[in-house]
Amino acid sequence: MAYIFNLNTMHAPKAKLQYHIGDEFFQSKDYSLVKGGDVDVSITINKVGNAYGVRLHLDGKVFASCDRCADDLDVEVHSDNEVSVRLGTAEQVDEDVVCVDERDGELDLEPLMYDYVILSMPARCVHGEGQCNPDMQAQLDQYLVNTDEDL
Ligand SMILES: [Zn+2]
Repeated sequence: MAYIFNLNTMHAPKAKLQYHIGDEFFQSKDYSLVKGGDVDVSITINKVGNAYGVRLHLDGKVFASCDRCADDLDVEVHSDNEVSVRLGTAEQVDEDVVCVDERDGELDLEPLMYDYVILSMPARCVHGEGQCNPDMQAQLDQYLVNTDEDL
C-alpha cells in the first residue's frame, strides 16, 4: 500500500506527489495487458472546500504485446487527467467523483494511476509497418492467403 495519500492529514491547500512506476507495479496485477513499464507520475492535489481535485500527469512507456505478432512492444504513454475526490460514506456513489471514506481519509492512488496508464494506450498496439517479428509475419501472411482461398 505504498500509494496511499491521507486526505485527513493534508493541511496545506495543495500537495504534490511524484512516483515512478515500473515492472513490479504492473506485474502485481492479476490480469494486466501491460507486462511492465517505466512511467513517471506527477500528482497534484488541490483542496477546494470539501472537495479535492486530483491531477495525474503520466509520462513514459509501458511494455505490452503486439496485437499482430505477439512480440514485445514498447508503447509510449502520455496523459494529463483530473479527477474529483471527496470524503464521504461508502453509500454515496457518484460516477464522476471518487469517494473516499471520511473516517480514514485514505485515497488509494494506485488504481487511478493504473487506469490512466491503460486509458492512455491506443486501442490497438502494433509495431510499425515492417517491424513485426518476421517469422510470425510470414505465418500471418500465409494464413491470410489461405483464408482468401477458402472464400
Ligand atoms: Zn508486431
